[in-house]
Amino acid sequence: MLKLYNTLTRKKEEFQPLKKGKVGLYVCGPTVYWFAHVGNFRTYLFADVLCRALEMNDYSLTTVVNITDVGHLTDDEDQGEDKMLVAMRREGKTAFEIAEFYTQAFMKDVEQLNIKPAQEFPKATDHIQEQINMIKLIEKNGFAYTTSDGVYFDTSKLPEYGVLSGQKAEDKKAGARVEMKEKKNPTDFALWKFSPKDQQRDMEWESSWGKGFPGWHIECSAMAEKYLGPTFDIHTGGVDHIAVHHENEIAQAVGANHAQQARFWMHGEYLTVDNGKMSKSLGNLYTIDDLVEKGIDPLSFRYFVLGAHYRTKLNFTWEALEAAQNALFRLRDIVRDWEAPKDECDKCGKRFKDAINDDLNTPQALAIVWELVDSDKPSHTKAQTLLKFDEVLGLGLKEYIAKPLLIPDEISALLVEREKVRKEKDWKASDEIREQIKTKGFLVEDTDQGQKLREKR
Ligand code: AMP
Ligand code: ZN
Repeated sequence: MLKLYNTLTRKKEEFQPLKKGKVGLYVCGPTVYWFAHVGNFRTYLFADVLCRALEMNDYSLTTVVNITDVGHLTDDEDQGEDKMLVAMRREGKTAFEIAEFYTQAFMKDVEQLNIKPAQEFPKATDHIQEQINMIKLIEKNGFAYTTSDGVYFDTSKLPEYGVLSGQKAEDKKAGARVEMKEKKNPTDFALWKFSPKDQQRDMEWESSWGKGFPGWHIECSAMAEKYLGPTFDIHTGGVDHIAVHHENEIAQAVGANHAQQARFWMHGEYLTVDNGKMSKSLGNLYTIDDLVEKGIDPLSFRYFVLGAHYRTKLNFTWEALEAAQNALFRLRDIVRDWEAPKDECDKCGKRFKDAINDDLNTPQALAIVWELVDSDKPSHTKAQTLLKFDEVLGLGLKEYIAKPLLIPDEISALLVEREKVRKEKDWKASDEIREQIKTKGFLVEDTDQGQKLREKR
């Protein structure tokens, strides 16, 4: 039985899909105005493990990850500039060029992290008509009003507004410094924003309300409905989406269709740096390429993320990342020497499944991996069992299991030579040979058992 924590009900619930054997899943995707950072990828990795866990439970999935290429303002509360405009100024390109470039970068990172691609990656700018149609329905049903700068959702018309965060509109009024302008309620949000009168935007469209562009929240509602229907199974995102973005998606689905949009709402906790927020200005915001530049395999980052439950905060440090990399590399070294996979250990498989089915308990799942590795089961059984585990963990171990490292003669000769100069304590020569070996694609490590060789990846 698969149990998942539902933010909506604030408890772990048994997961049952709407349609037998099938799951519709919507993942709030990247705003493509810059590279996605390691924090964003923690959330996408959580969604990926969720998908793999659902597949382990024999569900067939339709997964949708949206690409936000218009309408996401620098402040989530309809203030500030469109993030795409910020990027245009920074890079001197058109909004469409920016979106294309960072979408490709995102896809490359998805592949490097072994995240299974979604069935659909819809772009907001390809779905303007769907968004306009949805706003029209919301307006027709009496949930919208127009101000001088856009069309807004009237949250006071929806008594259940705030169900996800448990934050009532009144609390927000009391607590936040919300810029009201012509908004009727602090929690009201833009469905459509008018283009500034004195400016031509790269991205703007005609509508019955006036020329402009969609608000950020409506894209997810419109595209989720198009690809998954008015009500679907699971919606995910990071915890920062609970209070505004997802609350607003819920409101829009009710406003347009009187529908409950998603039955399960799941949220990944934050990746922090120095126990605080990552930000570009603090210089502590890293991309996957930054990790690679420092010699970290993207899959080591994946291993690091799996080491913490998705609902707990995880602090990013280079030391912790290196420890994860060492563990993963050790695992690769061990499994290389195993016999070809045969005969799964059912008992281990059940324990692993129980851990994953308990709201995706990946730290426990990793502990079970190491118990299996250290056990005295035949290596072909370990190999078959680990292969199965890795369908959920996604650490790419298939490439290593029962695949001993082939050492070319030339490298073996260099190792012998290095051993000799080390005995003579000629460290300079030893380092030179190490460099020579590196240029040929291998790394040498000096361990208690002597020189150890690993592929340079
Ligand atoms: P954005 O591109 O800003 O819409 O964010 C993409 C996804 O990453 C969203 O689901 C966010 O909730 C999530 N996210 C943003 N920052 C972090 C972080 N530091 N740790 C984990 N997830 C994050
Ligand atoms: Zn979204």
